[in-house]
Amino acid sequence: MYEQKQNDSHLTPFCLTARQKAAISLSEMPISTAELVYRLNEAVDGRRMRLLKIAELEEAMMRGGYFVYEAQEDGKIAKTPSDKAKTLGVSMDGKRLAGGGEVTLWRLCRPLQQDILLHINALLGQDAALDWDFAPAAAPQKSGGVRRTPQEAQPPAVGAAEDRPRKAENTPSHFRYCWNCEGKIPARFSFPCPSCGWPICPKCGACRSPRMGGCPESKKGMGRFTGLLKEKNDIRTQLLNSRLLSTATFDELRQVESPDALRAFRQKYASLFEQLETIRAEKREQHAEEKAEKVKEAKLNQRGFFKIVSVSPRLVTYQTASGLKKTLPNQPPVRVGKEYVDLTGIPPAER
Ligand SMILES: [Zn+2]
Ligand SMILES: [Zn+2]
Repeated sequence: MYEQKQNDSHLTPFCLTARQKAAISLSEMPISTAELVYRLNEAVDGRRMRLLKIAELEEAMMRGGYFVYEAQEDGKIAKTPSDKAKTLGVSMDGKRLAGGGEVTLWRLCRPLQQDILLHINALLGQDAALDWDFAPAAAPQKSGGVRRTPQEAQPPAVGAAEDRPRKAENTPSHFRYCWNCEGKIPARFSFPCPSCGWPICPKCGACRSPRMGGCPESKKGMGRFTGLLKEKNDIRTQLLNSRLLSTATFDELRQVESPDALRAFRQKYASLFEQLETIRAEKREQHAEEKAEKVKEAKLNQRGFFKIVSVSPRLVTYQTASGLKKTLPNQPPVRVGKEYVDLTGIPPAER
């Protein structure tokens, strides 16, 4: 059942029926993605169906928002579990590499295994309707025991928040959270996807989630913001950030369909754009002032004293005002304090 076929084009793509899902035994202990793939594959007939590959499930878990790429302390980008995955349960497991170094492996706790199983078909881009019939007794009932019907897969009235019901409850109803980047989507100020009708996340470009069958446009990410849509989105973001955008104005912007219409929009709201420029100029100025203040403070703190990096009976290493490290003999006229070194006796050029 597990042998790899050279040519598997005659096999049906991997998917699971409700009956097959029910037969899968999940692990009470946290397991690796590979182990979960093994368990999922056990439910299907490998002679008729293409078996699931580990990389496929890993990719689907990224798309489904279980894992995200995040910068680590050492600056490297690594896959880390999202808040959603953490809530469901992951455990960390380090593994030493043959060439030295260590990678972090994430093991999936049972509720997370179950959530993935629950949405497996949608996650893999297969028929999402296959997932609606499956509600194992142990799984938290998402809709009060009521079966989801295909009609519920229509675009929600506002936002794309079906993945974040708990948190969204306490936030104003016009804010929803993106299934992909988990950023806020102010639904009143979002552009609908021309293909699926879901609001496009302004931060990552995602629209209909894989859980609801996914949208091919969604996969373009930020790349979808080109031409007119990019201009409209930039205007939206700038006006919104400066608190200048009203729902009525945005509705007009949303209806802009051509460069001419955009020009007309800019003309109609010329005073708004002037205000925007003023605010942005003020912000720039404020920023420059803050920066100048910081530089001044750094120099002021030192008042001719320099922060000691290290000190020995012979040498003292200190930090210059520009941040460079410099070493001088630890002898008069250099006066070494607890934290700072006093170089007032040294000519400025030699400090
Ligand atoms: Zn997003
Ligand atoms: Zn779409």
